[in-house]
Amino acid sequence: MGPSMRAAVYRRRGELEIVDVARPRADDDLCLIEIDRCGICGTDLHMVLDGWGRPDSIGGHEWAGTVIEATDRSLVGRRVVGGPEEPCGACPHCRNGRANLCAGRDQPGVTPTQGAFAEYVARPWSRLVAVPEGLDLHRAALAEPLAVALHAISQASLATDDRVMIFGAGPIGAAIAAVLADHQHPVRVVEPSAARADLAARLGARVLEPADLPAPGMPMDVADDPADVVFECSGRSSAMERGLAQLERAGRLVLVGTGMAPPAFDPNRILLNELVVTGAYNYDDDGFARALDLLADPGFPADALIEPQPVGLDDLLDTMRRLARGDIAGKVMVKPR
Ligand SMILES: [Zn+2]
Ligand SMILES: [Zn+2]
Repeated sequence: MGPSMRAAVYRRRGELEIVDVARPRADDDLCLIEIDRCGICGTDLHMVLDGWGRPDSIGGHEWAGTVIEATDRSLVGRRVVGGPEEPCGACPHCRNGRANLCAGRDQPGVTPTQGAFAEYVARPWSRLVAVPEGLDLHRAALAEPLAVALHAISQASLATDDRVMIFGAGPIGAAIAAVLADHQHPVRVVEPSAARADLAARLGARVLEPADLPAPGMPMDVADDPADVVFECSGRSSAMERGLAQLERAGRLVLVGTGMAPPAFDPNRILLNELVVTGAYNYDDDGFARALDLLADPGFPADALIEPQPVGLDDLLDTMRRLARGDIAGKVMVKPR
């Protein structure tokens, strides 16, 4: 048997086992990367706590690390983040420049590709994105969720004077708020959790409680002080419904948070006000490069978005439960070694 490594293996709903597994190997196609940090994503919570995962898989897709073995010796020592998984390149979405919608793409934790809740991963160089000089790996591991946030903003076709409301200041909602604050774009954040509301306020947002929101009666009635764009990042059906009700005529609701319970939308509200409901999935083609540039910018509040203390693999499951309860405001980084 070759060298082993520690990894968090998903067994079944609510169950992660920290075990020794075979360490992946470098070959002519694959570089071996030592993981420095891997962020815990809302998707990981669904995989583990809601049972969406593939049994015996290793999740974790928001990672940063260092290449330690590669056939091309010049790559050894390069600091990288995991970029978008390989799209098929042949489907209509790939050919139309929307590879984020490719259904033939790998997804660690769902497909057999091993994720980074482990000490090492092996990936082709073409799937890695170099970390800019001077950016530490703790911050660089935020590149993936920040790329998701940037894509959500792209999906909103935001104009400079659009009034923006964000539902949910978990990692994606807070990242959207941080990007817009960076552009001096005012935002309102709706967030019931005290820890997350506090984070949103630190990012410069005006924080509202769900109970503060107007509930316009008739489908053609527009709420007082409406929003042109709502980003729904909580995944809760009640927030999706309230978010839609806050829209100005011709407003856009961008669904970013995945949830288990479907919302009840009034179709007449959508019809009479010509509302647009859309989703945001994955990244723009240049999303990782833009995210890493932002993270390397000392003016961008990356530190506010990340919990300062990383957790070990042994604390991963407990931390997932705390994140699902909204007890933790920022992105939690796992330090597998
Ligand atoms: Zn993610
Ligand atoms: Zn494709």
